[in-house]
Amino acid sequence: MPSTPNWMTMEDRHEIGVYVKRPISLVRGKGARVWDSEGREYIDCATGVGVALVGHAHPRIAEAVSVQAKTLLSAYELFYSEVRGRLLAKLASVLPTGLDRFFLCNSGAEANEGAIKLARAATGRPGIVAAMRGFHGKTLGALSATWERDTRALAGPLLPEVHHAPFNNAEKFCAAIGDTTAAVLLEVVQGEGGIRVAEAAFLEAVSRRCREAGALLIIDEVQSGCGRTGKFLALEHFDLEPDMVCLAKALGGGVPIGAIACGPRVRDLPKRYHSSTFGGNPLACAAALATLEVIESEGLLSRAATLGHRFRNRLMEEKPGVVRAVNGLGLMMGLELKKKAGPCLQPLADRGVLALLAGSNVLRFLPPLTITEEELDRVTTAVTGVLIDAS
Ligand code: PLP
Repeated sequence: MPSTPNWMTMEDRHEIGVYVKRPISLVRGKGARVWDSEGREYIDCATGVGVALVGHAHPRIAEAVSVQAKTLLSAYELFYSEVRGRLLAKLASVLPTGLDRFFLCNSGAEANEGAIKLARAATGRPGIVAAMRGFHGKTLGALSATWERDTRALAGPLLPEVHHAPFNNAEKFCAAIGDTTAAVLLEVVQGEGGIRVAEAAFLEAVSRRCREAGALLIIDEVQSGCGRTGKFLALEHFDLEPDMVCLAKALGGGVPIGAIACGPRVRDLPKRYHSSTFGGNPLACAAALATLEVIESEGLLSRAATLGHRFRNRLMEEKPGVVRAVNGLGLMMGLELKKKAGPCLQPLADRGVLALLAGSNVLRFLPPLTITEEELDRVTTAVTGVLIDAS
């Protein structure tokens, strides 16, 4: 009998090896659950780093993708497309007033990369100010704004005139913004950087300083957007009027898509200044439109807020000794530990929960917003069990 091919060995042999992989091969998902090749079931709080926001194999997304695949898969933006037009109108209706022009692309890095380029053209200035511990992607422009110093050093030279200033330190951050700054690029909840929520006073000061200096404000909502924090954008928890917002990850319900949403200061750029072959393709647009409809029809924003409270309260009640802090907004949650969090991931998987790291000592949870209360309680029980063992 031929033996079953070992796909893990094949990936290890044929990939360039830049990913840190866990010895789990995922084969199927439904709602908040995924199953591996050994038939083990997990509650998925990793969700492809926040992608499966509406859960896995959602019937409305599957149906929209299937219908679109049988109708028209590709249509470069040389031509108009009904589903693209409908998606753009829908996006404009769910985003804060004024953010109603878009550039569609395929990923988070590409959205941030494009936003930097649009900011340079709109202001005629070169500079970008980003936050320490911020993450904006790993293509060269986005990486220039990302805080991972080792990666930046290895990949350099990167974009000139990119400055990093301390997150939540208004004085130092504002001092970095000047008359050559095209834009500030900022997450309001730092995801990869450890689930750190911005302080309202910090954001207000940065926003004010941007206006004074004539710099644009770009908010990276690639991880925090689409309802994860209990509002469609995390920035809606604050009083902010950004010039651009970048979305990706959850937007396509699992199908790759990114979007730069632009306000009135980013308009009417020269024809051909920016483009993307797959940007705005009908398949991704159909998936994104269905995702936005599911978020609305299933009331997922209020679900994220309510379940986020429940998760936080239960974790705070149990709070094992190894936990230093519980941080986050809605269902974007980080447990800051007093020691390295990496060793907790496998014991959590053994108890049927997939989670993520955010830096070395934060356990990160990005469950689908469709997770049931019972599933979320099972996650809390598994997490507290693992953390009590680790205390
Ligand atoms: N921006 C933020 C805030 C992210 O969390 C990420 C990915 O984790 C990115 C940008 C990059 O997105 P992508 O991996 O789709 O390029």
